[in-house]
Amino acid sequence: MTMVELAGVSKDYDSGVVALRDVTLTIEPGELVGVVGPSGSGKSTLLHVAGLLDRPTSGRVSVAGHDVSRLADRQLSALRAQYIGFVFQQFHLAARVSALDNVADGLLYSGVRRPVRRDRAAEALRRVNLGHRLEHAPHEMSGGERQRVAIARAIVSEPTILYADEPTGNLDSVAGQLVMDILRQLWAAGTTIVIITHDREIAAGLPRQVTLHDGRVTAA
Ligand code: ADP
Ligand code: ADP
Repeated sequence: MTMVELAGVSKDYDSGVVALRDVTLTIEPGELVGVVGPSGSGKSTLLHVAGLLDRPTSGRVSVAGHDVSRLADRQLSALRAQYIGFVFQQFHLAARVSALDNVADGLLYSGVRRPVRRDRAAEALRRVNLGHRLEHAPHEMSGGERQRVAIARAIVSEPTILYADEPTGNLDSVAGQLVMDILRQLWAAGTTIVIITHDREIAAGLPRQVTLHDGRVTAA
């Protein structure tokens, strides 16, 4: 079954900007895909639409065989919680809350009890090689460590698909490489991963690249 399918997807913003134009794209389970293209070409919008954070203006989006166009917002959120994790360029962590609690909060609405949330958070932090930093808060950590906490938070619910929007954009090349190593480990363990990147070297090392220009996919 196709993991993610976009068929004839367009996205207009209220401002009048057309961010995606008739995008058709499929991603199979277990793929590692880079999304590249100039600033403003629609990469973030593509991720938001494919990741069910935003709805297309027209066209069809399916995730793991579920056509999401007719779903109510609550069902859309439930599907997103079940299948999808996100990592952003800005880490979006609570600066003065321990790494463990930042990650455990990723399970806040999962119905899992607090001690179990904390156990799973510790396990997710070990997977990003931060098992020794559980009680440290992001404001005491380097950028690379913060991004690894953010990845742990994204994977604590064991999503099938991980979307990363410029995950190395705020990191130096050594820290960026560590983050890429971790994403590759998650990919090797079976997670489908889609990464927006401006970094040519990183993009060139990915097995598949989707290129956007002015809201259109020009290479896939
Ligand atoms: P990229 O990630 O490739 O830089 P984006 O998807 O962020 O591209 O943006 C595509 C176009 O849509 C740009 O012209 C951008 O300014 C516009 N855009 C993005 N998000 C919004 C928004 N929430 N409201 C209005 N315009 C937006
Ligand atoms: P990144 O480089 O991490 O993709 P951006 O600066 O492109 O970040 O966008 C950050 C957020 O602002 C995104 O959620 C995007 O949808 C939104 N955004 C981008 N351009 C616009 C715009 N012209 N108007 C409103 N929101 C925008």
